[in-house]
Amino acid sequence: NRYITIKAHIDGAPKESDFELKDAALPLRVDPDTNLVIVKNLYVSIDPYQLNRLKSFSSSQTAINFAAGVTPGEGIDAYGVGKVVVSGNPEFEKDDLVVGLISWGDYTVVKPGVLLRKFDPLGLPLSYQVGILGFSGLTAYAGLFDICKPKKGEKVFVSAASGSVGNLVGQYAKLFGCYVVGSAGSKEKVAILKEKLGFDDAFNYKEETDLKATLKRYFPDGIDIYFDNVGAEMQEAAVANMKAFGRVAVCGVISEYTDTGKRAAPDMLDVVYKRIKIQGFLAADHMNVYQDFLQKTCDQLSTGKIQALEDISDGVESIPSAFVGLFRGDNIGKKIVRIALE
Ligand code: NDP
Repeated sequence: NRYITIKAHIDGAPKESDFELKDAALPLRVDPDTNLVIVKNLYVSIDPYQLNRLKSFSSSQTAINFAAGVTPGEGIDAYGVGKVVVSGNPEFEKDDLVVGLISWGDYTVVKPGVLLRKFDPLGLPLSYQVGILGFSGLTAYAGLFDICKPKKGEKVFVSAASGSVGNLVGQYAKLFGCYVVGSAGSKEKVAILKEKLGFDDAFNYKEETDLKATLKRYFPDGIDIYFDNVGAEMQEAAVANMKAFGRVAVCGVISEYTDTGKRAAPDMLDVVYKRIKIQGFLAADHMNVYQDFLQKTCDQLSTGKIQALEDISDGVESIPSAFVGLFRGDNIGKKIVRIALE
């Protein structure tokens, strides 16, 4: 069983050489008393938050509490889709398709209590479970509707807009009747947002020198909702351009993950006078909207109203470059690694 691990904790931007491929024997059978399930991994999710689990937390940083830190040499769990090959758990049978916490490797030995459930692909690609119908989709849906509470016609700005969460925020907001502008890191990404995904407008933030002025250009009357995926200067510029009673959903701050010295410092007096609400959130706290999200998104997929933007590479050995690429902006849409064909 080949799997990816880190050689040592990572500080700063990750490099492919921080990772290694290891091999370990896999049990051929499991004792029914153990409730273990062996899963052949098919698709694994590649997510920016993983970097925060791969850092050393010896300094002033505190370990994030919703996913444990990773020890060098050990496997790295991630959301993904697989097929049961051996089951010692009465809830699962051989050949069941499952989604849950599997590993960045060929196979996963899933312990009882670890998130794993059977699913029906409903005729849709299995990879959708990892992105649009998985946590990326739920994050976009819950962050936009639960946290930002949009009203029709409101003006929405989303950063990292061609990414997995960002593109869906924009698509949901458009379908709901908002005006949507996205920022992304290349001309190609900007073209996809405007021409393929129906954003009202989009810009390449790497070509802009004064983000406050840029946002003023795109939102002369101000922003109602900012869906923040990047933090730092972009958050400051967005807050400076918010309308009174604007809402900022802080989904993630990817530009700060690789740079410990970088922190958003929005003008707090501005926040007070404009009565802006800035709220962080975690998708996992919003499982109450999961069925609603799933139903609506499946309907929108079947009628072609929403599109799944995916970026898939192949093989366990491609995981380090897929992961490192998130921080270089290599991916367009949900980054997924296909480990094996069904
Ligand atoms: P993406 O698919 O958006 O991939 C990351 C993208 O971020 C890159 O493609 C890149 O696009 C952009 N990026 C990378 N570095 C920088 C930088 N320094 N400045 C600005 N943009 C940068 O990833 P996800 O959609 O999975 O995640 C997006 C955000 O949402 C992350 O912050 C993540 O941590 C967060 N998240 C939060 C969840 C929650 O429950 N709160 C759940 C899932 C994700 P570009 O070319 O535009 O630079």
